[in-house]
Amino acid sequence: ELILAIETSCDETAAAVVQGGTKLRSNVVATQMEIHQKFGGVVPEVASRHHIEQITIVMEQALYEADVSIDDIDAVAVTEGPGLVGALLVGVNAAKALAYAHGKPVIGVHHIAGHIYANRLEKEFEFPLLSLVVSGGHTELIYMEQHGEYEIIGETRDDAAGEAYDKVAKALNLPYPGGPQIDRLAQLGEDTYQFPRSYLEEGSYDFSFSGLKTSVINKLHQLRQKGDEIDRENVAASFQESVIDVLVDKTYQAAVDYNVKQLIVAGGVSANQTLRRRMERRFADTDVELAIPPLYLCTDNAAMIGAKASIKYHQQNYASLDLNANPGLMM
Ligand code: ATP
Ligand code: MG
Ligand code: FE
Repeated sequence: ELILAIETSCDETAAAVVQGGTKLRSNVVATQMEIHQKFGGVVPEVASRHHIEQITIVMEQALYEADVSIDDIDAVAVTEGPGLVGALLVGVNAAKALAYAHGKPVIGVHHIAGHIYANRLEKEFEFPLLSLVVSGGHTELIYMEQHGEYEIIGETRDDAAGEAYDKVAKALNLPYPGGPQIDRLAQLGEDTYQFPRSYLEEGSYDFSFSGLKTSVINKLHQLRQKGDEIDRENVAASFQESVIDVLVDKTYQAAVDYNVKQLIVAGGVSANQTLRRRMERRFADTDVELAIPPLYLCTDNAAMIGAKASIKYHQQNYASLDLNANPGLMM
């Protein structure tokens, strides 16, 4: 089947055509990154306005690049949440209007489920599996025994990993979004500052990054006050080592404890070079198959929404036309 998928939960206006849940026919992403850079972060009203300007163009482009017309499409899928409500609404309304006008079913998709299902465009799932979702708003370890069944076994108690990256980057006066900037600088530095690693109680799969973030910011204040030179490369590398040590250790432990066949790393932070390398190294000598999507499927896109929607399509798990944006949607 062919699904036209739409994603507008944050600052990317995206549409894609996915065939059979696993084959990417087109993947169009109009990013608003440069617009929000001026403000140092995403401004919700500005995001909504740009989604409205872009959505029709992006949907048409996705159909064009897939070389299909709307008549060839079997269902229209859209991110219903979580995300910014005004941003989500643009996608949800576009999807409903298009589906209604052409008599197609609508499928609502959870954004984080989408991040996990990005992997289906590369490799079929092998259950039971564990997914580490590390993004701008989420840090979660999710256990799955079958499609559509999510057990959150660990999550952040404060900042998400991507959020910590973005805030530390800001403290270093790096442009938004900070993750890729820290990633780049960290490759040139070393863990000289030895910031804390937060493992929480013995046996916990939860995460906490706000203590680390605060200690980096305090260190920067201290250095600035004393007029000492700040080695941004070493600060970036040290911060990143602390984050990644904890992510890799906890994920590895959970994968062993739950005896999973596959580990999927998903979300924007899974684009991180060092995280990818370290996960590969840690899982190399295990029976767990490691799956990390290519970079263009890590950050927000609509292909991942189409991949997830395919499962719901086959269950005829359609939304009704009163589908609404749900900024706090649970998994
Ligand atoms: P969510 O998916 O939780 O709703 P989101 O959609 O805003 O949040 P994503 O687009 O999945 O998040 O990811 C964006 C985050 O990923 C940002 O915090 C960004 O800094 C981070 N990020 C992107 N590339 C990298 C990288 N190479 N290294 C570290 N972090 C990165
Ligand atoms: Mg984004
Ligand atoms: Fe996301």
